[in-house]
Amino acid sequence: MFSKILIANRGEIACRVAATARRLGVRTVAVCSDVDAHAKHVALCDEVVNLGGAAPKDSYLKWQAIIDAARATGAQAVHPGYGFLSENEAFADACTQAGLVFIGPPSSAILAMGLKAESKQLMEKAGVPLVPGYHGSNQDPVLLKAEAERIGYPVLIKASAGGGGKGMRAVDKAEDFEAALASCKREAINSFGSDAVLIEKYVQRPRHIEIQVFCDTHGNGVYLFERDCSVQRRHQKVLEEAPAPGLSPEMRQQMGLAAVAAARAVNYVGAGTVEFIVEQRDDPSAAPGRPKQASTPSGGSEPHEVGSVGGNKPVMNFFFMEMNTRLQVEHPVTEAITGLDLVEWQLRVASGEPLPLKQDELRMHGHAIEARICAENPDKQFLPATGTLRVYRKPDASAFTHGAVRVDDGVRPGDTISPYYDSMIAKLIVHGDTREQALARLDVALAQTHIVGVANNVQFLRHVVRSPSFAQAQLDTALIPREAAVLFKQEPLGLALAAAAAVSQTLHDEAQQAGSDPFSRRDGWRSHGEFVRRFAFVFGGETVQAQLRYAHDGALALTVGEGETAVTGPLVWRVTGAGLEVAFNGQRTELRVDWQGETAHVFAAQGATQIVEIDLLAHAGEAASEGGRLTAPMPGKVVSFAVKAGDSVKKGQALAVLEAMKMEHTIAAPGDGQVAELLYAPGDQVAEGAELIKLTPA
Ligand code: ADP
Ligand code: ADP
Ligand code: MG
Repeated sequence: MFSKILIANRGEIACRVAATARRLGVRTVAVCSDVDAHAKHVALCDEVVNLGGAAPKDSYLKWQAIIDAARATGAQAVHPGYGFLSENEAFADACTQAGLVFIGPPSSAILAMGLKAESKQLMEKAGVPLVPGYHGSNQDPVLLKAEAERIGYPVLIKASAGGGGKGMRAVDKAEDFEAALASCKREAINSFGSDAVLIEKYVQRPRHIEIQVFCDTHGNGVYLFERDCSVQRRHQKVLEEAPAPGLSPEMRQQMGLAAVAAARAVNYVGAGTVEFIVEQRDDPSAAPGRPKQASTPSGGSEPHEVGSVGGNKPVMNFFFMEMNTRLQVEHPVTEAITGLDLVEWQLRVASGEPLPLKQDELRMHGHAIEARICAENPDKQFLPATGTLRVYRKPDASAFTHGAVRVDDGVRPGDTISPYYDSMIAKLIVHGDTREQALARLDVALAQTHIVGVANNVQFLRHVVRSPSFAQAQLDTALIPREAAVLFKQEPLGLALAAAAAVSQTLHDEAQQAGSDPFSRRDGWRSHGEFVRRFAFVFGGETVQAQLRYAHDGALALTVGEGETAVTGPLVWRVTGAGLEVAFNGQRTELRVDWQGETAHVFAAQGATQIVEIDLLAHAGEAASEGGRLTAPMPGKVVSFAVKAGDSVKKGQALAVLEAMKMEHTIAAPGDGQVAELLYAPGDQVAEGAELIKLTPA
């Protein structure tokens, strides 16, 4: 075993690797950028080397500086984590040449699996089933379109060098092909430096099921079962679980053997993931002549007929998609069902030890689910968000059965989610004896995850977990769009409770302030001997009035809203250990309120919501702000403008493309008008709120 390693990454994965290293008595060297100088991963390591500026190219991607840091600190090996340099074969080579062990596969395996098109050619030779498609080197657009016709629409255009869900375009019909190809190529050249694409049949009702493989330097290779990562948005994973619901033991074994065959074909070493796309068909007769048992698939028959299992409904066919030659974000799901530490396995294999277990010694226990908690706004097409974690409370893992709840993160309260890196805040991993139990624990653990200061998907994840499709394990990559009606713009607590919570917290805060007397406030008055106080809220985009009456005996009565929809009743609140207990309108709820300026973030077991309390005294006479400016919704880079000065535009027309946090965002016209001026040029870096285009309304 090594005595010291350098972790060439940041965030939760750097923390994750450091934790295992510490447990094994291996010393750790962190690297960081200027903005990460005081990050959690730095605090968890024994030493740190600052690499430079915030942008990855000025720090985490500076591989010569990383190798120099490893040598200067006496590290024997480099763990690349995921992302950044983890799948960079030149970096892996440079480590080896500098006398350092790269904790990952040989560079030849990274290279072989690095390009989707080339790796598919290799897998075809190894007899691994492929999605019908074109993965040749001829990139003539006319030929590509002809191939799409041959494959049959809908098709998926993929950047061969792509990753992280980027550089993919689904095309439904021939008329859309050219435009989709152009936009795919543009994203591909910008993100990956190559615009080579491949074309695949767009699989219907697809499930993403991947196999964790592990190989050592002694010729051993095993699979550590599967993970179902079908719940996705923008082709990126949202929830991952193991085992995959409905996967038969036979199909698990076939996929496992195919994955090990794929790894062996490139002389793989270490942890890797072979991603398969699984087609689900209801009618077993739809594909006649399919072999019932296909063990390790070997060439011969039609690729899409290899590796399918009939008998059980629905029929599932699996096809190789790509191999990720690194530890995966969702590896904790596999750790939860196998009871193993995959980072420990990585370190053992990299230091030359054989795999700790053989295939027939590996077992699965229970069910595990991971939820990715991200800084993003699900109600605005998952637009990534930045900000400071003013409140960041996690579920108390010790309050659950041992190992049932795990939180992996790289941030602490007060840390900032910056625009420089990806938007993942934390991973929540739950385990249960059954899927049902894991689901129930996930729901409770999400309810106990409180974040204020950064837009996030916690509430959205709860809606997904409770959606009929997810609860019943009807998984496929269209789950989120299919369940849209119950996932987006949902209000779990309701106006009455939210207002009651905000009022109660306000009263509590006032009681804490010595000398504050509610009866002397200028927003109150006396009526029939009672003291009445006025509140105004903004909730769900609507302004709402509320009145609080203080009776002689001190009892409170609250009215929320006006006219027929008004809700009136006694308000009772008291302080509990974790927050407040509020009784109003027939509900008694334990909740917690965190203020961010005038916004009350209300967290309760049923869900979380926000309500803005307008300070009537401070806001008297303030003018409404003017809207309609075309500004950057987040810090990022201007990719392109679709218009020029003088152009007339229609409402909703795409004006510009902005790239930030691994995603492209289209800026659309808020109304009809004429472009007066473009205020930036493509390639410019812009701050959040920067005005991009001057538009004269029609
Ligand atoms: P996983 O493959 O484990 O699901 P994701 O694909 O969601 O993880 O995100 C992590 C991976 O995304 C990284 O390992 C890397 O391969 C890829 N990735 C990270 N950053 C980028 C980026 N800026 N552009 C394209 N791909 C990226
Ligand atoms: P990346 O390198 O970005 O992870 P993948 O090739 O692994 O790209 O594909 C990412 C996701 O896109 C898959 O998990 C799946 O949801 C979807 N996808 C990929 N290929 C297909 C296909 N042929 N048909 C339908 N969906 C697909
Ligand atoms: Mg993938």
